[in-house]
Amino acid sequence: MVSAFTTIFAGLLTSPSTIDAFIAKNARTILARPPTENSRRFVISEPQTGKDLPDYGQTSIEIDKHVLTKKSKKWIRKDLFGQSLIDQTMEEIATNLEFQETERRFKELGQAGMSREEKLNRRRALDSLGIPSFNNFLKDKDEGAGTEDHIIKRGEPELLQLNVGLYCNQACGHCHVESSPLRKEMMTEDVASKCLELLVNTPSIHTLDITGGAPEMNANFRYLVSMARALRPDLNIIDRCNLTVLQEPGQEDLLSFMVKNRLHVIASLPCYSAKNVDSQRGGGVFDRSISALLALNEVGYAQPHTGLTLDLVYNPLGAFLPPPQGSLEDKYKEVLAADFGIVFNSLFTMTNMPVKRFADFLHRRDELEDYMDLLVRNFNVGTLSSLMCLNTVSVDYNGNIFDCDFNQQLGNSIAGKTVFDISSLTELKKHDITNDNHCFGCTAGMGSS
Ligand code: SF4
Ligand code: SF4
Repeated sequence: MVSAFTTIFAGLLTSPSTIDAFIAKNARTILARPPTENSRRFVISEPQTGKDLPDYGQTSIEIDKHVLTKKSKKWIRKDLFGQSLIDQTMEEIATNLEFQETERRFKELGQAGMSREEKLNRRRALDSLGIPSFNNFLKDKDEGAGTEDHIIKRGEPELLQLNVGLYCNQACGHCHVESSPLRKEMMTEDVASKCLELLVNTPSIHTLDITGGAPEMNANFRYLVSMARALRPDLNIIDRCNLTVLQEPGQEDLLSFMVKNRLHVIASLPCYSAKNVDSQRGGGVFDRSISALLALNEVGYAQPHTGLTLDLVYNPLGAFLPPPQGSLEDKYKEVLAADFGIVFNSLFTMTNMPVKRFADFLHRRDELEDYMDLLVRNFNVGTLSSLMCLNTVSVDYNGNIFDCDFNQQLGNSIAGKTVFDISSLTELKKHDITNDNHCFGCTAGMGSS
Protein backbone atom coordinates (compact mmCIF):
# COMPACT_ATOMS: atom_id res chain seq x y z
CA MET A 1 0.00 0.00 0.00
CA VAL A 2 1.30 3.47 -0.83
CA SER A 3 1.87 5.43 2.39
CA ALA A 4 0.39 8.89 2.95
CA PHE A 5 3.87 10.36 2.99
CA THR A 6 4.86 8.72 -0.33
CA THR A 7 1.71 10.07 -1.89
CA ILE A 8 2.34 13.55 -0.57
CA PHE A 9 5.97 13.50 -1.58
CA ALA A 10 5.04 12.42 -5.10
CA GLY A 11 2.63 15.34 -5.05
CA LEU A 12 5.38 17.75 -4.01
CA LEU A 13 7.34 16.90 -7.12
CA THR A 14 4.45 17.90 -9.36
CA SER A 15 3.38 21.41 -10.31
CA PRO A 16 2.63 24.03 -7.61
CA SER A 17 -1.10 23.96 -8.33
CA THR A 18 -1.28 20.23 -7.68
CA ILE A 19 0.82 20.54 -4.53
CA ASP A 20 -2.00 22.43 -2.81
CA ALA A 21 -4.54 19.80 -3.76
CA PHE A 22 -2.28 16.91 -2.69
CA ILE A 23 -1.43 18.46 0.65
CA ALA A 24 -5.00 19.48 1.43
CA LYS A 25 -6.30 16.03 0.55
CA ASN A 26 -3.61 14.05 2.37
CA ALA A 27 -3.37 16.26 5.44
CA ARG A 28 -7.08 15.70 5.93
CA THR A 29 -6.66 11.97 5.45
CA ILE A 30 -3.85 11.90 7.99
CA LEU A 31 -5.80 13.94 10.53
CA ALA A 32 -8.87 11.76 10.14
CA ARG A 33 -7.04 8.45 10.50
CA PRO A 34 -8.37 6.60 13.56
CA PRO A 35 -5.90 5.50 16.21
CA THR A 36 -5.12 1.80 16.52
CA GLU A 37 -4.38 -0.21 19.65
CA ASN A 38 -0.81 -0.46 20.84
CA SER A 39 0.49 -3.99 20.78
CA ARG A 40 2.91 -5.46 23.28
CA ARG A 41 5.08 -8.35 22.15
CA PHE A 42 7.55 -10.55 23.92
CA VAL A 43 10.54 -12.29 22.40
CA ILE A 44 13.15 -14.69 23.65
CA SER A 45 16.22 -12.59 24.38
CA GLU A 46 18.72 -15.21 23.14
CA PRO A 47 18.99 -15.83 20.22
CA GLN A 48 17.45 -12.54 19.05
CA THR A 49 16.78 -12.85 15.32
CA GLY A 50 14.96 -15.38 13.22
CA LYS A 51 18.10 -16.02 11.18
CA ASP A 52 20.01 -17.02 14.30
CA LEU A 53 17.27 -19.20 15.77
CA PRO A 54 18.78 -22.61 16.62
CA ASP A 55 17.60 -25.77 14.84
CA TYR A 56 16.04 -28.65 16.71
CA GLY A 57 18.44 -30.07 19.23
CA GLN A 58 20.44 -26.87 19.48
CA THR A 59 18.24 -25.00 21.96
CA SER A 60 20.12 -24.79 25.21
CA ILE A 61 18.90 -27.02 28.00
CA GLU A 62 19.87 -24.25 30.42
CA ILE A 63 16.25 -23.27 30.33
CA ASP A 64 16.59 -21.17 33.47
CA LYS A 65 18.73 -18.80 31.34
CA HIS A 66 15.95 -18.33 28.79
CA VAL A 67 14.42 -14.94 29.49
CA LEU A 68 11.70 -13.00 27.84
CA THR A 69 12.59 -9.44 26.91
CA LYS A 70 9.78 -6.94 26.66
CA LYS A 71 10.04 -5.17 23.33
CA SER A 72 9.42 -1.45 23.53
CA LYS A 73 5.85 -0.86 22.51
CA LYS A 74 5.23 0.93 19.27
CA TRP A 75 3.68 4.31 19.88
CA ILE A 76 0.74 4.98 17.62
CA ARG A 77 -0.19 8.58 16.96
CA LYS A 78 -3.31 9.41 18.91
CA ASP A 79 -6.08 11.11 17.02
CA LEU A 80 -6.27 14.24 19.18
CA PHE A 81 -6.95 16.61 16.31
CA GLY A 82 -9.89 18.91 16.90
CA GLN A 83 -9.66 18.46 20.69
CA SER A 84 -8.77 21.73 22.38
CA LEU A 85 -6.25 21.94 25.21
CA ILE A 86 -7.59 25.27 26.42
CA ASP A 87 -10.15 24.00 28.98
CA GLN A 88 -7.51 21.82 30.58
CA THR A 89 -5.02 24.71 30.66
CA MET A 90 -7.64 26.93 32.30
CA GLU A 91 -8.31 24.26 34.95
CA GLU A 92 -4.58 24.03 35.70
CA ILE A 93 -4.32 27.83 35.93
CA ALA A 94 -7.24 27.84 38.39
CA THR A 95 -5.41 25.48 40.75
CA ASN A 96 -1.86 26.81 40.28
CA LEU A 97 -1.14 29.17 43.16
CA GLU A 98 2.16 30.42 41.69
CA PHE A 99 0.48 31.34 38.41
CA GLN A 100 -2.29 33.15 40.28
CA GLU A 101 0.22 35.11 42.37
CA THR A 102 2.00 36.25 39.17
CA GLU A 103 -1.36 37.22 37.66
CA ARG A 104 -2.27 39.20 40.77
CA ARG A 105 1.01 41.11 40.68
CA PHE A 106 0.61 41.69 36.96
CA LYS A 107 -2.79 43.31 37.58
CA GLU A 108 -1.43 45.36 40.49
CA LEU A 109 1.89 46.55 38.99
CA GLY A 110 1.34 46.22 35.25
CA GLN A 111 4.02 45.02 32.83
CA ALA A 112 6.33 48.00 33.44
CA GLY A 113 6.11 47.69 37.24
CA MET A 114 6.93 43.99 37.14
CA SER A 115 9.88 44.60 34.83
CA ARG A 116 11.24 47.23 37.26
CA GLU A 117 10.85 44.81 40.16
CA GLU A 118 12.59 42.05 38.18
CA LYS A 119 15.46 44.36 37.26
CA LEU A 120 15.94 45.32 40.90
CA ASN A 121 15.95 41.67 42.00
CA ARG A 122 18.64 40.80 39.43
CA ARG A 123 20.71 43.82 40.50
CA ARG A 124 20.43 42.84 44.18
CA ALA A 125 21.44 39.26 43.40
CA LEU A 126 24.57 40.45 41.55
CA ASP A 127 25.42 43.01 44.27
CA SER A 128 25.37 40.37 46.95
CA LEU A 129 27.66 38.22 44.79
CA GLY A 130 30.01 41.17 44.24
CA ILE A 131 29.55 40.96 40.46
CA PRO A 132 29.50 44.14 38.36
CA SER A 133 26.81 45.04 35.82
CA PHE A 134 26.85 43.21 32.47
CA ASN A 135 28.50 46.08 30.59
CA ASN A 136 31.19 46.60 33.23
CA PHE A 137 31.74 42.86 33.37
CA LEU A 138 32.42 42.85 29.58
CA LYS A 139 34.76 45.77 29.99
CA ASP A 140 36.68 43.98 32.78
CA LYS A 141 36.91 40.84 30.68
CA ASP A 142 38.55 42.84 27.91
CA GLU A 143 38.11 39.97 25.47
CA GLY A 144 35.04 41.01 23.59
CA ALA A 145 34.91 39.14 20.28
CA GLY A 146 32.12 40.87 18.33
CA THR A 147 32.35 43.96 20.49
CA GLU A 148 34.00 47.28 19.91
CA ASP A 149 35.14 49.32 22.88
CA HIS A 150 33.43 46.63 25.00
CA ILE A 151 30.05 47.54 23.60
CA ILE A 152 27.94 45.09 21.63
CA LYS A 153 27.27 46.79 18.29
CA ARG A 154 24.25 46.35 16.07
CA GLY A 155 25.06 45.16 12.55
CA GLU A 156 23.03 44.88 9.33
CA PRO A 157 19.46 43.69 10.07
CA GLU A 158 19.12 40.08 8.85
CA LEU A 159 16.33 38.66 10.94
CA LEU A 160 12.92 40.19 11.59
CA GLN A 161 11.17 38.65 14.56
CA LEU A 162 7.48 39.34 15.01
CA ASN A 163 5.67 38.54 18.22
CA VAL A 164 2.14 38.47 16.86
CA GLY A 165 0.39 38.11 20.22
CA LEU A 166 0.36 36.57 23.67
CA TYR A 167 -2.66 34.30 23.33
CA CYS A 168 -1.70 30.67 23.79
CA ASN A 169 -3.50 27.38 24.43
CA GLN A 170 -0.79 26.49 26.98
CA ALA A 171 0.52 28.28 30.09
CA CYS A 172 4.03 26.86 30.56
CA GLY A 173 5.83 27.24 33.85
CA HIS A 174 8.86 28.99 32.34
CA CYS A 175 7.19 31.05 29.63
CA HIS A 176 9.29 34.20 29.24
CA VAL A 177 6.41 36.07 27.57
CA GLU A 178 3.77 35.07 30.15
CA SER A 179 1.40 33.72 27.56
CA SER A 180 -1.76 31.79 28.34
CA PRO A 181 -5.38 31.53 27.18
CA LEU A 182 -6.02 34.56 29.43
CA ARG A 183 -3.84 36.87 27.31
CA LYS A 184 -5.80 38.38 24.45
CA GLU A 185 -3.18 40.78 23.01
CA MET A 186 -2.88 40.33 19.22
CA MET A 187 -1.10 42.05 16.35
CA THR A 188 -3.56 43.94 14.13
CA GLU A 189 -3.63 43.86 10.33
CA ASP A 190 -2.30 47.46 10.22
CA VAL A 191 0.83 46.51 12.15
CA ALA A 192 1.26 43.29 10.15
CA SER A 193 0.98 45.21 6.85
CA LYS A 194 3.55 47.78 7.97
CA CYS A 195 5.93 44.96 8.95
CA LEU A 196 5.55 43.49 5.46
CA GLU A 197 6.39 46.88 3.96
CA LEU A 198 9.56 47.04 6.09
CA LEU A 199 10.43 43.52 5.00
CA VAL A 200 10.26 44.53 1.34
CA ASN A 201 12.24 47.73 2.02
CA THR A 202 15.03 45.86 3.83
CA PRO A 203 16.59 43.36 1.42
CA SER A 204 19.24 42.32 3.97
CA ILE A 205 16.53 40.47 5.93
CA HIS A 206 16.79 36.77 5.10
CA THR A 207 14.66 35.35 7.90
CA LEU A 208 11.19 36.17 9.20
CA ASP A 209 10.74 34.63 12.64
CA ILE A 210 7.10 34.51 13.78
CA THR A 211 6.48 33.88 17.44
CA GLY A 212 3.86 34.42 20.16
CA GLY A 213 2.00 33.07 22.25
CA ALA A 214 0.84 30.50 19.78
CA PRO A 215 1.35 32.58 16.62
CA GLU A 216 -0.93 30.38 14.52
CA MET A 217 -3.88 31.43 16.72
CA ASN A 218 -3.53 35.06 15.62
CA ALA A 219 -6.20 36.05 13.10
CA ASN A 220 -3.54 37.64 10.85
CA PHE A 221 -1.00 34.79 10.94
CA ARG A 222 -2.05 33.31 7.60
CA TYR A 223 -2.23 36.73 5.93
CA LEU A 224 1.23 37.62 7.20
CA VAL A 225 2.82 34.35 6.08
CA SER A 226 1.13 34.20 2.66
CA MET A 227 2.05 37.79 1.86
CA ALA A 228 5.64 37.40 3.07
CA ARG A 229 6.03 34.24 0.97
CA ALA A 230 4.57 35.99 -2.11
CA LEU A 231 6.68 39.13 -1.64
CA ARG A 232 9.92 37.32 -0.78
CA PRO A 233 9.90 33.76 -2.21
CA ASP A 234 13.46 33.20 -0.96
CA LEU A 235 12.69 34.10 2.66
CA ASN A 236 13.26 31.63 5.51
CA ILE A 237 9.96 31.89 7.40
CA ILE A 238 10.13 30.40 10.88
CA ASP A 239 7.01 29.36 12.76
CA ARG A 240 7.74 29.01 16.50
CA CYS A 241 5.18 26.29 16.96
CA ASN A 242 4.16 24.85 20.33
CA LEU A 243 2.96 21.67 18.50
CA THR A 244 -0.29 21.30 20.46
CA VAL A 245 -1.77 24.16 18.43
CA LEU A 246 -2.07 21.72 15.51
CA GLN A 247 -4.86 19.97 17.39
CA GLU A 248 -6.88 23.06 18.28
CA PRO A 249 -10.29 23.30 16.62
CA GLY A 250 -10.08 25.65 13.65
CA GLN A 251 -6.48 24.64 12.87
CA GLU A 252 -7.41 21.68 10.65
CA ASP A 253 -5.74 23.35 7.64
CA LEU A 254 -2.57 24.30 9.52
CA LEU A 255 -0.43 21.36 8.37
CA SER A 256 -1.24 21.94 4.72
CA PHE A 257 -0.70 25.69 5.16
CA MET A 258 2.73 25.05 6.70
CA VAL A 259 3.77 22.81 3.81
CA LYS A 260 2.36 25.08 1.13
CA ASN A 261 4.27 28.08 2.51
CA ARG A 262 7.40 26.06 3.27
CA LEU A 263 7.41 27.17 6.90
CA HIS A 264 10.47 26.27 8.89
CA VAL A 265 9.04 24.79 12.09
CA ILE A 266 10.92 25.31 15.35
CA ALA A 267 9.14 23.56 18.20
CA SER A 268 9.74 23.29 21.93
CA LEU A 269 10.14 19.84 23.42
CA PRO A 270 12.04 20.19 26.70
CA CYS A 271 12.44 16.42 27.15
CA TYR A 272 11.74 13.06 25.57
CA SER A 273 9.94 11.94 28.72
CA ALA A 274 6.25 12.61 29.31
CA LYS A 275 6.74 13.39 32.99
CA ASN A 276 9.21 16.24 32.41
CA VAL A 277 7.36 17.78 29.48
CA ASP A 278 4.01 17.70 31.27
CA SER A 279 5.49 19.20 34.44
CA GLN A 280 6.89 22.18 32.50
CA ARG A 281 4.23 22.62 29.81
CA GLY A 282 1.02 21.22 31.30
CA GLY A 283 -0.75 17.87 31.65
CA GLY A 284 -1.11 15.87 28.43
CA VAL A 285 1.19 18.18 26.44
CA PHE A 286 3.73 15.42 25.83
CA ASP A 287 1.26 13.04 24.12
CA ARG A 288 -0.12 15.90 22.06
CA SER A 289 3.40 17.05 21.09
CA ILE A 290 4.37 13.53 19.99
CA SER A 291 1.18 13.25 17.94
CA ALA A 292 1.90 16.59 16.30
CA LEU A 293 5.52 15.65 15.52
CA LEU A 294 4.37 12.42 13.87
CA ALA A 295 1.83 14.38 11.82
CA LEU A 296 4.58 16.82 10.74
CA ASN A 297 6.77 13.88 9.70
CA GLU A 298 3.86 12.38 7.78
CA VAL A 299 3.39 15.50 5.65
CA GLY A 300 7.11 15.60 4.86
CA TYR A 301 8.82 17.54 7.67
CA ALA A 302 12.41 16.40 8.32
CA GLN A 303 12.08 13.86 5.50
CA PRO A 304 14.74 13.65 2.79
CA HIS A 305 14.37 15.87 -0.29
CA THR A 306 11.27 17.76 0.85
CA GLY A 307 13.15 20.87 2.00
CA LEU A 308 10.78 21.04 5.01
CA THR A 309 12.77 21.71 8.18
CA LEU A 310 11.67 20.67 11.65
CA ASP A 311 13.94 21.75 14.51
CA LEU A 312 13.40 21.18 18.20
CA VAL A 313 14.28 23.34 21.17
CA TYR A 314 15.37 22.13 24.56
CA ASN A 315 15.43 24.34 27.62
CA PRO A 316 16.24 23.11 31.14
CA LEU A 317 13.39 22.28 33.50
CA GLY A 318 14.93 24.27 36.34
CA ALA A 319 17.77 26.54 37.42
CA PHE A 320 20.60 24.76 35.60
CA LEU A 321 22.36 25.04 32.25
CA PRO A 322 21.57 22.84 29.25
CA PRO A 323 23.79 19.83 28.45
CA PRO A 324 26.11 20.07 25.40
CA GLN A 325 23.96 20.63 22.32
CA GLY A 326 25.55 18.01 20.01
CA SER A 327 25.35 15.11 22.47
CA LEU A 328 21.83 16.01 23.52
CA GLU A 329 20.73 16.16 19.87
CA ASP A 330 22.12 12.62 19.37
CA LYS A 331 20.22 11.41 22.43
CA TYR A 332 16.96 13.05 21.32
CA LYS A 333 17.32 11.53 17.85
CA GLU A 334 17.98 8.08 19.28
CA VAL A 335 15.08 8.10 21.76
CA LEU A 336 12.48 9.80 19.58
CA ALA A 337 13.24 7.45 16.68
CA ALA A 338 13.26 4.30 18.82
CA ASP A 339 10.21 5.09 20.95
CA PHE A 340 8.00 6.92 18.49
CA GLY A 341 9.53 6.73 15.00
CA ILE A 342 9.99 10.53 14.98
CA VAL A 343 12.69 12.29 12.95
CA PHE A 344 13.76 15.93 13.11
CA ASN A 345 16.58 18.07 11.75
CA SER A 346 18.42 19.84 14.59
CA LEU A 347 18.09 20.41 18.30
CA PHE A 348 18.84 23.83 19.77
CA THR A 349 19.60 24.10 23.47
CA MET A 350 18.58 27.33 25.16
CA THR A 351 19.55 28.74 28.52
CA ASN A 352 16.54 29.86 30.53
CA MET A 353 16.60 33.66 30.68
CA PRO A 354 16.09 35.18 34.15
CA VAL A 355 13.09 37.21 32.97
CA LYS A 356 9.33 37.12 33.53
CA ARG A 357 7.75 33.83 34.69
CA PHE A 358 11.15 32.14 35.08
CA ALA A 359 12.56 35.13 37.04
CA ASP A 360 9.50 34.94 39.28
CA PHE A 361 9.99 31.20 39.69
CA LEU A 362 13.62 31.75 40.75
CA HIS A 363 12.78 34.63 43.07
CA ARG A 364 10.00 32.69 44.83
CA ARG A 365 12.31 29.71 45.34
CA ASP A 366 15.10 31.96 46.57
CA GLU A 367 17.29 30.70 43.71
CA LEU A 368 17.83 33.90 41.73
CA GLU A 369 21.21 34.63 43.32
CA ASP A 370 22.49 31.11 42.66
CA TYR A 371 21.22 31.23 39.10
CA MET A 372 22.87 34.60 38.36
CA ASP A 373 26.08 33.22 39.86
CA LEU A 374 25.81 30.18 37.56
CA LEU A 375 25.28 32.39 34.49
CA VAL A 376 28.23 34.65 35.32
CA ARG A 377 30.52 31.70 36.12
CA ASN A 378 29.71 30.21 32.74
CA PHE A 379 30.23 33.36 30.69
CA ASN A 380 31.33 32.22 27.23
CA VAL A 381 33.03 34.83 25.07
CA GLY A 382 32.17 32.70 22.02
CA THR A 383 28.48 33.61 22.35
CA LEU A 384 29.17 37.33 21.73
CA SER A 385 29.45 36.91 17.98
CA SER A 386 26.05 35.20 17.66
CA LEU A 387 23.88 37.24 19.97
CA MET A 388 20.38 37.79 18.63
CA CYS A 389 20.63 41.55 19.08
CA LEU A 390 23.53 41.87 16.58
CA ASN A 391 21.36 41.26 13.52
CA THR A 392 17.76 41.01 14.74
CA VAL A 393 14.90 43.47 14.93
CA SER A 394 12.13 42.31 17.24
CA VAL A 395 8.62 43.77 16.94
CA ASP A 396 5.77 43.33 19.44
CA TYR A 397 2.07 42.99 18.66
CA ASN A 398 1.65 46.78 18.96
CA GLY A 399 4.45 47.52 16.48
CA ASN A 400 7.04 48.65 19.07
CA ILE A 401 10.63 47.84 18.08
CA PHE A 402 13.26 46.09 20.23
CA ASP A 403 16.78 44.62 20.05
CA CYS A 404 15.56 41.12 20.90
CA ASP A 405 12.69 39.12 22.31
CA PHE A 406 14.00 39.54 25.86
CA ASN A 407 14.26 43.32 25.69
CA GLN A 408 10.76 43.22 24.26
CA GLN A 409 9.48 41.45 27.37
CA LEU A 410 11.26 43.98 29.59
CA GLY A 411 9.91 46.98 27.64
CA ASN A 412 13.38 48.21 26.55
CA SER A 413 12.46 49.52 23.09
CA ILE A 414 14.91 50.92 20.50
CA ALA A 415 14.75 54.68 21.08
CA GLY A 416 10.96 54.52 21.63
CA LYS A 417 10.42 53.68 17.95
CA THR A 418 7.51 51.85 16.39
CA VAL A 419 7.28 50.32 12.91
CA PHE A 420 5.33 53.42 11.83
CA ASP A 421 8.33 55.69 12.56
CA ILE A 422 10.67 54.13 9.99
CA SER A 423 10.65 53.16 6.32
CA SER A 424 13.45 50.56 6.46
CA LEU A 425 14.89 48.45 9.29
CA THR A 426 18.38 49.58 8.26
CA GLU A 427 17.60 52.97 9.82
CA LEU A 428 17.89 51.33 13.25
CA LYS A 429 21.61 50.65 12.82
CA LYS A 430 22.55 53.97 14.37
CA HIS A 431 20.89 53.16 17.71
CA ASP A 432 22.73 51.45 20.56
CA ILE A 433 21.66 48.05 21.89
CA THR A 434 20.25 48.10 25.42
CA ASN A 435 22.27 45.58 27.40
CA ASP A 436 21.52 44.89 31.05
CA ASN A 437 22.01 42.14 33.61
CA HIS A 438 19.53 39.73 32.00
CA CYS A 439 22.07 39.58 29.11
CA PHE A 440 24.18 37.23 31.28
CA GLY A 441 21.59 34.61 30.21
CA CYS A 442 22.58 35.09 26.55
CA THR A 443 26.29 34.69 27.20
CA ALA A 444 26.32 31.63 29.48
CA GLY A 445 27.24 28.24 28.08
CA MET A 446 25.85 27.88 24.55
CA GLY A 447 23.74 31.02 25.04
CA SER A 448 20.09 31.68 24.43
CA SER A 449 19.94 33.56 21.15
S1 SF4 B 1 6.25 28.84 26.31
FE1 SF4 B 1 5.25 28.90 24.33
S2 SF4 B 1 3.68 27.33 24.42
FE2 SF4 B 1 4.28 27.78 26.51
S3 SF4 B 1 2.86 29.36 27.22
FE3 SF4 B 1 4.66 30.42 26.43
S4 SF4 B 1 4.15 30.86 24.32
FE4 SF4 B 1 2.71 29.27 25.00
S1 SF4 C 1 19.22 39.78 26.10
FE1 SF4 C 1 18.98 40.73 24.10
S2 SF4 C 1 20.24 42.56 24.23
FE2 SF4 C 1 20.91 41.19 25.83
S3 SF4 C 1 22.58 40.01 24.92
FE3 SF4 C 1 20.69 38.83 24.70
S4 SF4 C 1 20.00 39.35 22.66
FE4 SF4 C 1 21.46 40.94 23.24
